[in-house]
Amino acid sequence: MAYNPANYIQDLQYFGEFGGVNPSISDSSTYTFLSAKTMFDTFEGNADGCYLYSRHSSPSNLYLGEALAAMEDTETANVSASGMGAITSVLLQLCHSGDHVVSSRTIYGGTYAFLKNFAPRLGIETTFVNITNVEQVEMAITKNTKVLYCESVSNPLLEIADIKALSKIAKKHNLQLVVDNTFSPLSISPAKLGADVVVHSLTKFINGSSDTVGGAVCGSQDFINRLRNVHDGASMLLGSTMDSLRAASILKNLRTLHIRMQQHSKNALFLAKKFEADGLKTVYPGLESHPSHNLFKKMMNAPYGYGGMLTIDVGTIERANDLMELMQHRNLGYLAVSLGFYKTLFSAPGTSTSSEIPENEQKSMGLSDGLIRFSIGLDADIERTYNKMRTCMEELHILKPNLESLNLDL
Ligand SMILES: *Cc1c(COP(=O)(O)O)cnc(C)c1O
Repeated sequence: MAYNPANYIQDLQYFGEFGGVNPSISDSSTYTFLSAKTMFDTFEGNADGCYLYSRHSSPSNLYLGEALAAMEDTETANVSASGMGAITSVLLQLCHSGDHVVSSRTIYGGTYAFLKNFAPRLGIETTFVNITNVEQVEMAITKNTKVLYCESVSNPLLEIADIKALSKIAKKHNLQLVVDNTFSPLSISPAKLGADVVVHSLTKFINGSSDTVGGAVCGSQDFINRLRNVHDGASMLLGSTMDSLRAASILKNLRTLHIRMQQHSKNALFLAKKFEADGLKTVYPGLESHPSHNLFKKMMNAPYGYGGMLTIDVGTIERANDLMELMQHRNLGYLAVSLGFYKTLFSAPGTSTSSEIPENEQKSMGLSDGLIRFSIGLDADIERTYNKMRTCMEELHILKPNLESLNLDL
Protein backbone atom coordinates (compact mmCIF):
# COMPACT_ATOMS: atom_id res chain seq x y z
CA MET A 1 0.00 0.00 0.00
CA ALA A 2 1.19 3.53 -0.77
CA TYR A 3 2.79 5.40 2.11
CA ASN A 4 0.31 7.88 3.54
CA PRO A 5 1.67 10.10 6.32
CA ALA A 6 -1.79 11.40 7.33
CA ASN A 7 -2.75 7.87 8.44
CA TYR A 8 0.14 7.87 10.86
CA ILE A 9 -1.08 11.10 12.45
CA GLN A 10 -4.66 9.76 12.53
CA ASP A 11 -3.56 6.55 14.26
CA LEU A 12 -2.12 8.32 17.30
CA GLN A 13 -4.17 8.21 20.51
CA TYR A 14 -3.73 10.76 23.28
CA PHE A 15 -6.17 11.24 26.13
CA GLY A 16 -6.59 13.98 28.71
CA GLU A 17 -6.12 13.10 32.35
CA PHE A 18 -9.92 12.83 32.88
CA GLY A 19 -10.45 10.85 29.71
CA GLY A 20 -10.70 13.93 27.52
CA VAL A 21 -10.36 13.31 23.79
CA ASN A 22 -7.60 15.91 23.70
CA PRO A 23 -4.51 15.58 25.86
CA SER A 24 -4.40 17.88 28.88
CA ILE A 25 -2.20 20.93 28.47
CA SER A 26 0.78 20.86 30.80
CA ASP A 27 0.56 24.30 32.34
CA SER A 28 3.80 24.07 34.29
CA SER A 29 7.35 25.23 33.77
CA THR A 30 8.79 22.95 36.43
CA TYR A 31 8.06 19.46 37.83
CA THR A 32 8.31 17.91 41.29
CA PHE A 33 10.32 14.79 42.04
CA LEU A 34 9.43 12.29 44.74
CA SER A 35 13.09 11.57 45.35
CA ALA A 36 16.24 13.62 44.99
CA LYS A 37 17.93 10.69 43.27
CA THR A 38 15.43 10.80 40.38
CA MET A 39 16.10 14.51 39.93
CA PHE A 40 19.82 13.80 39.63
CA ASP A 41 19.20 10.97 37.15
CA THR A 42 16.95 13.20 35.06
CA PHE A 43 19.69 15.82 34.82
CA GLU A 44 22.01 13.11 33.59
CA GLY A 45 19.41 12.09 31.01
CA ASN A 46 18.73 8.72 32.65
CA ALA A 47 15.17 9.01 33.92
CA ASP A 48 12.87 8.17 31.06
CA GLY A 49 9.39 9.60 31.38
CA CYS A 50 10.34 12.22 33.95
CA TYR A 51 10.04 15.91 33.24
CA LEU A 52 12.54 18.36 34.60
CA TYR A 53 11.89 21.83 33.30
CA SER A 54 9.79 22.91 30.31
CA ARG A 55 12.66 24.38 28.30
CA HIS A 56 13.97 20.81 28.16
CA SER A 57 10.63 19.17 27.33
CA SER A 58 7.01 19.20 28.38
CA PRO A 59 4.17 16.72 27.85
CA SER A 60 2.34 19.02 25.41
CA ASN A 61 5.48 19.58 23.34
CA LEU A 62 6.19 15.85 23.30
CA TYR A 63 2.68 15.08 22.00
CA LEU A 64 3.11 17.52 19.13
CA GLY A 65 6.62 16.24 18.48
CA GLU A 66 5.41 12.64 18.29
CA ALA A 67 2.67 13.60 15.82
CA LEU A 68 5.20 15.40 13.61
CA ALA A 69 7.59 12.44 13.84
CA ALA A 70 4.72 10.19 12.74
CA MET A 71 4.09 12.51 9.80
CA GLU A 72 7.74 12.55 8.71
CA ASP A 73 8.38 8.92 9.66
CA THR A 74 11.35 9.76 11.88
CA GLU A 75 12.07 8.23 15.29
CA THR A 76 11.12 11.39 17.12
CA ALA A 77 10.95 15.18 16.89
CA ASN A 78 11.56 18.31 18.93
CA VAL A 79 9.37 21.39 18.65
CA SER A 80 10.69 24.94 18.98
CA ALA A 81 9.42 28.49 19.26
CA SER A 82 9.93 29.20 15.55
CA GLY A 83 11.17 27.69 12.33
CA MET A 84 14.38 29.69 12.66
CA GLY A 85 14.72 28.36 16.22
CA ALA A 86 14.66 24.85 14.78
CA ILE A 87 17.00 25.58 11.85
CA THR A 88 19.65 27.47 13.81
CA SER A 89 19.76 24.85 16.59
CA VAL A 90 20.22 22.07 14.06
CA LEU A 91 23.03 23.87 12.23
CA LEU A 92 24.81 24.87 15.43
CA GLN A 93 24.48 21.35 16.84
CA LEU A 94 26.00 19.82 13.71
CA CYS A 95 28.70 22.43 12.98
CA HIS A 96 31.57 23.68 15.10
CA SER A 97 34.06 26.43 14.39
CA GLY A 98 36.05 25.51 11.28
CA ASP A 99 33.24 23.44 9.76
CA HIS A 100 31.63 24.04 6.40
CA VAL A 101 28.09 23.84 5.02
CA VAL A 102 27.01 23.27 1.42
CA SER A 103 23.61 24.89 1.00
CA SER A 104 21.12 25.52 -1.75
CA ARG A 105 21.25 29.19 -2.75
CA THR A 106 17.47 29.40 -3.07
CA ILE A 107 16.36 29.06 0.52
CA TYR A 108 14.28 31.01 3.00
CA GLY A 109 15.70 34.53 3.41
CA GLY A 110 16.25 34.13 7.15
CA THR A 111 18.17 30.87 6.73
CA TYR A 112 20.24 32.45 3.98
CA ALA A 113 21.05 35.46 6.18
CA PHE A 114 21.98 33.18 9.09
CA LEU A 115 24.39 31.10 7.00
CA LYS A 116 25.81 34.05 5.10
CA ASN A 117 26.11 36.72 7.80
CA PHE A 118 25.83 35.14 11.24
CA ALA A 119 27.41 31.68 11.10
CA PRO A 120 30.79 33.04 9.82
CA ARG A 121 31.09 34.94 13.14
CA LEU A 122 31.26 31.50 14.76
CA GLY A 123 33.76 30.21 12.20
CA ILE A 124 31.16 28.29 10.14
CA GLU A 125 31.43 28.95 6.40
CA THR A 126 28.87 28.14 3.70
CA THR A 127 29.12 27.57 -0.03
CA PHE A 128 25.84 28.28 -1.83
CA VAL A 129 25.08 26.10 -4.83
CA ASN A 130 22.42 25.47 -7.43
CA ILE A 131 20.74 22.54 -5.70
CA THR A 132 19.29 21.18 -8.93
CA ASN A 133 22.83 20.61 -10.24
CA VAL A 134 23.95 17.57 -8.27
CA GLU A 135 27.47 17.64 -9.73
CA GLN A 136 27.93 21.24 -8.59
CA VAL A 137 26.72 20.23 -5.14
CA GLU A 138 29.30 17.45 -4.87
CA MET A 139 32.09 19.68 -6.18
CA ALA A 140 31.44 22.22 -3.39
CA ILE A 141 32.13 19.65 -0.66
CA THR A 142 35.43 20.14 1.20
CA LYS A 143 37.16 18.08 3.88
CA ASN A 144 35.50 20.35 6.48
CA THR A 145 31.94 19.99 5.19
CA LYS A 146 29.52 18.60 7.77
CA VAL A 147 26.07 19.52 6.44
CA LEU A 148 24.26 19.49 3.13
CA TYR A 149 21.28 21.87 3.47
CA CYS A 150 18.28 22.40 1.21
CA GLU A 151 14.53 22.87 1.01
CA SER A 152 12.43 20.14 -0.68
CA VAL A 153 10.60 22.89 -2.57
CA SER A 154 12.64 26.06 -2.46
CA ASN A 155 11.59 29.51 -1.44
CA PRO A 156 10.69 31.47 -3.50
CA LEU A 157 11.70 29.94 -6.85
CA LEU A 158 10.04 26.55 -6.27
CA GLU A 159 13.10 24.57 -7.31
CA ILE A 160 12.85 20.91 -6.36
CA ALA A 161 15.66 19.09 -4.55
CA ASP A 162 16.40 15.53 -5.66
CA ILE A 163 16.52 14.25 -2.09
CA LYS A 164 17.51 10.68 -3.01
CA ALA A 165 20.45 11.85 -5.10
CA LEU A 166 21.53 14.36 -2.44
CA SER A 167 21.27 11.67 0.22
CA LYS A 168 23.63 9.47 -1.79
CA ILE A 169 26.19 12.26 -1.92
CA ALA A 170 25.73 13.00 1.78
CA LYS A 171 26.33 9.33 2.70
CA LYS A 172 29.35 9.09 0.43
CA HIS A 173 31.00 12.10 2.09
CA ASN A 174 29.72 11.38 5.61
CA LEU A 175 27.56 14.53 5.78
CA GLN A 176 24.21 15.13 7.42
CA LEU A 177 21.48 15.95 4.90
CA VAL A 178 19.16 18.55 6.46
CA VAL A 179 15.95 19.27 4.54
CA ASP A 180 13.49 22.10 5.24
CA ASN A 181 10.08 20.67 4.27
CA THR A 182 7.98 23.75 5.15
CA PHE A 183 6.57 24.18 1.62
CA SER A 184 5.57 20.56 1.11
CA PRO A 185 4.27 18.87 4.28
CA LEU A 186 2.59 15.49 3.55
CA SER A 187 3.31 15.88 -0.20
CA ILE A 188 7.00 15.05 0.23
CA SER A 189 8.49 12.87 2.97
CA PRO A 190 12.22 13.77 2.99
CA ALA A 191 13.24 11.24 5.65
CA LYS A 192 11.73 8.42 3.56
CA LEU A 193 13.92 9.64 0.68
CA GLY A 194 17.12 9.68 2.74
CA ALA A 195 17.23 13.00 4.65
CA ASP A 196 18.88 12.68 8.07
CA VAL A 197 17.09 15.64 9.63
CA VAL A 198 13.82 17.28 8.51
CA VAL A 199 13.01 20.79 9.73
CA HIS A 200 9.75 22.71 9.54
CA SER A 201 8.38 26.13 10.17
CA LEU A 202 5.07 25.16 11.80
CA THR A 203 4.01 28.77 11.27
CA LYS A 204 2.98 27.98 7.70
CA PHE A 205 0.85 25.12 6.34
CA ILE A 206 1.12 22.85 9.38
CA ASN A 207 -0.56 25.25 11.78
CA GLY A 208 -2.36 26.89 8.89
CA SER A 209 -4.17 29.68 10.71
CA SER A 210 -1.50 32.41 10.74
CA ASP A 211 -1.98 32.86 14.49
CA THR A 212 1.35 31.58 15.77
CA VAL A 213 5.03 31.06 15.06
CA GLY A 214 6.57 27.63 15.64
CA GLY A 215 9.14 25.15 14.40
CA ALA A 216 10.16 21.50 14.55
CA VAL A 217 13.13 19.21 14.03
CA CYS A 218 12.33 15.62 13.04
CA GLY A 219 15.16 13.09 13.28
CA SER A 220 16.70 10.16 15.08
CA GLN A 221 16.27 9.70 18.83
CA ASP A 222 20.02 10.07 19.18
CA PHE A 223 20.12 13.42 17.39
CA ILE A 224 17.09 14.84 19.22
CA ASN A 225 18.63 13.74 22.54
CA ARG A 226 21.78 15.60 21.61
CA LEU A 227 19.77 18.75 20.78
CA ARG A 228 18.06 18.55 24.18
CA ASN A 229 21.14 17.64 26.21
CA VAL A 230 21.33 19.87 29.30
CA HIS A 231 25.12 20.22 28.99
CA ASP A 232 25.66 20.95 25.31
CA GLY A 233 22.35 20.72 23.42
CA ALA A 234 21.63 23.65 21.10
CA SER A 235 17.84 23.53 21.64
CA MET A 236 18.23 23.38 25.40
CA LEU A 237 20.90 26.08 25.61
CA LEU A 238 19.77 28.52 22.93
CA GLY A 239 16.33 28.35 24.47
CA SER A 240 13.85 28.67 21.59
CA THR A 241 11.25 26.61 23.42
CA MET A 242 7.64 26.39 22.34
CA ASP A 243 4.99 27.22 24.91
CA SER A 244 2.73 24.32 25.93
CA LEU A 245 -0.48 26.20 25.08
CA ARG A 246 0.77 26.70 21.54
CA ALA A 247 1.92 23.11 21.19
CA ALA A 248 -1.61 22.02 22.11
CA SER A 249 -3.25 24.36 19.59
CA ILE A 250 -0.88 23.39 16.76
CA LEU A 251 -1.52 19.69 17.44
CA LYS A 252 -5.25 20.27 16.94
CA ASN A 253 -4.64 22.06 13.63
CA LEU A 254 -2.23 19.36 12.43
CA ARG A 255 -5.11 16.87 12.41
CA THR A 256 -6.78 18.61 9.46
CA LEU A 257 -3.57 19.25 7.51
CA HIS A 258 -4.33 16.47 5.01
CA ILE A 259 -7.67 18.01 4.03
CA ARG A 260 -6.18 21.49 3.80
CA MET A 261 -3.19 20.39 1.70
CA GLN A 262 -5.49 18.66 -0.77
CA GLN A 263 -7.52 21.85 -1.19
CA HIS A 264 -4.45 24.14 -1.38
CA SER A 265 -2.97 21.87 -4.06
CA LYS A 266 -6.19 21.52 -6.02
CA ASN A 267 -6.71 25.30 -6.10
CA ALA A 268 -3.06 26.04 -6.92
CA LEU A 269 -3.03 23.55 -9.80
CA PHE A 270 -6.23 25.05 -11.21
CA LEU A 271 -4.86 28.61 -11.12
CA ALA A 272 -1.41 27.62 -12.40
CA LYS A 273 -2.92 25.93 -15.45
CA LYS A 274 -5.17 28.91 -16.17
CA PHE A 275 -2.36 31.48 -15.70
CA GLU A 276 -0.05 29.49 -17.94
CA ALA A 277 -2.72 29.16 -20.63
CA ASP A 278 -3.22 32.93 -20.40
CA GLY A 279 0.43 33.37 -21.36
CA LEU A 280 1.71 34.42 -17.92
CA LYS A 281 5.16 33.16 -16.91
CA THR A 282 4.00 30.71 -14.25
CA VAL A 283 6.04 28.42 -12.04
CA TYR A 284 4.28 25.55 -10.27
CA PRO A 285 5.69 22.05 -9.74
CA GLY A 286 2.41 20.54 -10.94
CA LEU A 287 2.82 22.05 -14.42
CA GLU A 288 4.53 19.89 -17.01
CA SER A 289 6.56 22.96 -17.97
CA HIS A 290 8.25 22.97 -14.54
CA PRO A 291 11.82 21.71 -15.05
CA SER A 292 11.48 19.30 -12.11
CA HIS A 293 7.86 18.24 -12.62
CA ASN A 294 8.77 14.59 -13.10
CA LEU A 295 11.12 14.59 -10.13
CA PHE A 296 8.37 15.98 -7.87
CA LYS A 297 5.96 13.39 -9.25
CA LYS A 298 8.40 10.61 -8.44
CA MET A 299 8.94 11.82 -4.87
CA MET A 300 5.40 12.86 -3.93
CA ASN A 301 2.71 11.23 -1.83
CA ALA A 302 0.13 11.58 -4.58
CA PRO A 303 -3.05 12.41 -2.57
CA TYR A 304 -1.61 15.74 -1.39
CA GLY A 305 -0.69 17.14 -4.78
CA TYR A 306 1.97 19.63 -5.75
CA GLY A 307 1.40 22.06 -2.91
CA GLY A 308 -0.13 25.49 -2.48
CA MET A 309 2.73 27.70 -3.70
CA LEU A 310 3.06 29.20 -7.16
CA THR A 311 4.74 32.19 -8.73
CA ILE A 312 3.98 34.39 -11.70
CA ASP A 313 6.24 37.00 -13.25
CA VAL A 314 4.52 40.19 -14.39
CA GLY A 315 7.72 41.90 -15.55
CA THR A 316 8.24 44.85 -13.23
CA ILE A 317 7.92 45.58 -9.53
CA GLU A 318 5.45 48.40 -10.29
CA ARG A 319 3.08 46.03 -12.09
CA ALA A 320 3.52 43.46 -9.36
CA ASN A 321 2.64 46.02 -6.70
CA ASP A 322 -0.37 47.35 -8.64
CA LEU A 323 -1.71 43.86 -9.15
CA MET A 324 -1.25 42.84 -5.52
CA GLU A 325 -2.95 46.01 -4.28
CA LEU A 326 -5.88 45.56 -6.65
CA MET A 327 -6.31 41.87 -5.77
CA GLN A 328 -6.34 42.78 -2.09
CA HIS A 329 -8.84 45.57 -2.74
CA ARG A 330 -11.12 43.02 -4.44
CA ASN A 331 -10.71 40.67 -1.45
CA LEU A 332 -8.96 37.93 -3.43
CA GLY A 333 -6.27 37.60 -0.79
CA TYR A 334 -3.92 39.62 1.35
CA LEU A 335 -0.68 41.39 0.51
CA ALA A 336 1.33 39.63 3.20
CA VAL A 337 4.35 37.44 3.64
CA SER A 338 4.03 33.90 5.02
CA LEU A 339 1.99 31.00 3.67
CA GLY A 340 -0.50 28.29 4.43
CA PHE A 341 -3.43 30.55 5.40
CA TYR A 342 -7.09 29.94 4.38
CA LYS A 343 -6.90 33.17 2.37
CA THR A 344 -4.52 33.52 -0.54
CA LEU A 345 -1.41 35.50 0.44
CA PHE A 346 0.83 37.24 -2.05
CA SER A 347 4.08 39.14 -1.89
CA ALA A 348 6.95 40.19 -4.15
CA PRO A 349 9.87 38.17 -2.75
CA GLY A 350 12.59 40.42 -4.21
CA THR A 351 11.53 43.28 -1.96
CA SER A 352 10.23 41.27 1.01
CA THR A 353 11.03 37.74 2.15
CA SER A 354 14.17 37.43 0.02
CA SER A 355 15.40 41.00 0.51
CA GLU A 356 18.24 39.59 2.64
CA ILE A 357 19.70 38.31 -0.62
CA PRO A 358 21.74 41.03 -2.40
CA GLU A 359 20.30 42.29 -5.67
CA ASN A 360 23.03 40.92 -7.96
CA GLU A 361 22.69 37.49 -6.32
CA GLN A 362 18.90 37.65 -6.72
CA LYS A 363 19.42 38.20 -10.45
CA SER A 364 21.90 35.36 -10.82
CA MET A 365 19.45 32.90 -9.25
CA GLY A 366 16.59 34.04 -11.45
CA LEU A 367 14.72 36.04 -8.84
CA SER A 368 13.27 38.85 -10.92
CA ASP A 369 11.60 42.10 -9.81
CA GLY A 370 8.20 41.27 -11.22
CA LEU A 371 7.92 37.95 -9.43
CA ILE A 372 4.83 37.48 -7.27
CA ARG A 373 4.74 34.55 -4.87
CA PHE A 374 1.29 33.19 -4.09
CA SER A 375 0.26 30.94 -1.25
CA ILE A 376 -3.07 29.79 -2.62
CA GLY A 377 -5.93 29.68 -0.13
CA LEU A 378 -8.73 27.24 0.58
CA ASP A 379 -11.26 29.04 -1.70
CA ALA A 380 -14.38 26.93 -2.11
CA ASP A 381 -14.92 28.13 -5.69
CA ILE A 382 -11.55 28.61 -7.33
CA GLU A 383 -12.99 29.30 -10.77
CA ARG A 384 -14.76 32.37 -9.38
CA THR A 385 -11.48 33.47 -7.81
CA TYR A 386 -9.68 32.97 -11.13
CA ASN A 387 -12.23 35.04 -13.04
CA LYS A 388 -11.87 37.90 -10.57
CA MET A 389 -8.05 37.71 -10.70
CA ARG A 390 -8.19 37.71 -14.47
CA THR A 391 -10.33 40.86 -14.42
CA CYS A 392 -7.71 42.57 -12.24
CA MET A 393 -4.98 41.63 -14.71
CA GLU A 394 -7.02 42.92 -17.65
CA GLU A 395 -7.73 46.23 -15.92
CA LEU A 396 -3.99 46.70 -15.32
CA HIS A 397 -3.18 45.68 -18.93
CA ILE A 398 -1.17 42.70 -17.74
CA LEU A 399 -3.46 40.50 -19.82
CA LYS A 400 -5.49 41.39 -22.89
CA PRO A 401 -9.23 40.91 -22.54
CA ASN A 402 -10.11 37.36 -23.45
CA LEU A 403 -12.43 37.82 -26.42
CA GLU A 404 -13.76 34.31 -26.21
CA SER A 405 -15.00 34.98 -22.72
CA LEU A 406 -16.95 38.08 -23.78
CA ASN A 407 -20.56 37.70 -24.67
CA LEU A 408 -20.57 38.72 -28.33
CA ASP A 409 -24.11 37.59 -28.89
CA LEU A 410 -25.22 41.10 -29.94
C1 LIG B 1 8.94 30.81 7.27
C2 LIG B 1 10.00 29.86 6.91
C3 LIG B 1 11.06 29.58 7.79
C4 LIG B 1 11.21 30.29 9.11
O1 LIG B 1 10.20 29.96 9.99
P1 LIG B 1 9.70 30.90 11.20
O2 LIG B 1 8.64 30.09 11.84
O3 LIG B 1 9.23 32.18 10.60
O4 LIG B 1 10.88 31.13 12.08
C5 LIG B 1 12.00 28.66 7.39
N1 LIG B 1 11.92 28.02 6.21
C6 LIG B 1 10.93 28.28 5.33
C7 LIG B 1 10.91 27.55 4.03
C8 LIG B 1 9.94 29.21 5.64
O5 LIG B 1 8.96 29.46 4.76
